[in-house]
Amino acid sequence: MSIFETDKKYVAATYKRFPVEIVSGKGSIVTDVDGKEYIDMGSGIGVTAFGIADDEWQKAVTDQIGRVQHMSNLYYTEPCAKLAEALCEKTGMKKVFFGNSGAEANECAIKVARKYAADKWKETHGDEPCERYTIVTLRNSFHGRTLTTLAATGQDHFHELFQPLTPGFAHVAANDIDDLKKLAAEVQIAGVIIECVQGEGGVLPLTKEYVQEVRKFTEENDIIMIVDEVQTGNGRTGELYAYMNFGITPDVVSTAKGLAGGLPLGATLLSEKVQDVLGFGDHGSTFGGNPVSCAAALSIISRIDRNLLDEVKEKSRFVFDSFEGAEGVESVAGMGLMVGIKTVKPAGEVLAKCMENGVLCLTAKDKVRLLPALNIPMDVLKKAVEVIKEACKQ
Ligand SMILES: *Cc1c(COP(=O)(O)O)cnc(C)c1O
Repeated sequence: MSIFETDKKYVAATYKRFPVEIVSGKGSIVTDVDGKEYIDMGSGIGVTAFGIADDEWQKAVTDQIGRVQHMSNLYYTEPCAKLAEALCEKTGMKKVFFGNSGAEANECAIKVARKYAADKWKETHGDEPCERYTIVTLRNSFHGRTLTTLAATGQDHFHELFQPLTPGFAHVAANDIDDLKKLAAEVQIAGVIIECVQGEGGVLPLTKEYVQEVRKFTEENDIIMIVDEVQTGNGRTGELYAYMNFGITPDVVSTAKGLAGGLPLGATLLSEKVQDVLGFGDHGSTFGGNPVSCAAALSIISRIDRNLLDEVKEKSRFVFDSFEGAEGVESVAGMGLMVGIKTVKPAGEVLAKCMENGVLCLTAKDKVRLLPALNIPMDVLKKAVEVIKEACKQ
């Protein structure tokens, strides 16, 4: 049997795969089983932040694998502590909880908001059942695939087959502060989650004004503001975290995807206000804070400096300038190296054409989505853009 056939026969059919088998790669170039090379404009789904098998990343990973690949969270390991320190020093957050994925990072964030609200409730209502538990997210958002993060996801079609989902979630319109205020008059809100740029929803940035209004409203009402930086985080938007483009500081930040450059790692960053909400036994994760993933993440996070971020911004401008007004392109949206292109042709056709010509892209809703490695060389990026532009033409 070919690998296609074996995979189709034995792997659960949850993914519609392209007929390509990748066997190796270096940087932003990946090679398939027939030796054909592709420029990877998706970097996983924004995961391989410094590309495939990056030298420094690979050394950090293999050094750590040769020392100790796992210890339970009953013991201390250096990469976990050092990574938490680096994340806190670079963001001003005070503590970090480590899990393995974006969904897990959001689960922790939701638990923090619920427990913070419950602790406050207890102070004023004693043992009365807590009514302050609603977690509000935006319509068209995406927060993960677990039953709770699906409940958080503001897209009905994700919900239909899996009822009942975790209760206590509500959705409001993005960029409409009055919708949030109206809901707050009806239910008691524990937390609000936003993506500064909705990724899966179509690469749609929120307005700066709205993000600041949400911060003001949540602050005034002692509601925990969570920014889901699973996709937007770790340099993707030209700042270390996307909220830094919006002039706010949230109470909780969740991140994953690019954090460890291609190994599973999720992190929930806790500000001073919520740093002590979770205590012994309140939360945990067997694999969370894995020393290999943390060593990998340290090699990524320590290199996302002003220089690298400015390069991301420069490459972003190049991508926007290339596609704005180009033939077959209706609009371009996004931030940094997180770009959504609305094409006249169906996005699927553009992707197929690009693949034929050696470029791998992603989609988001009806758009072509680009999430290249942050360090993609300019000449490689230029080549990929040419191929994609050609594929957009009628
Ligand atoms: C991908 C994504 C998630 C889910 O991450 P997983 O690692 O697949 O669990 C959550 N939130 C956002 C914004 C994402 O883009």
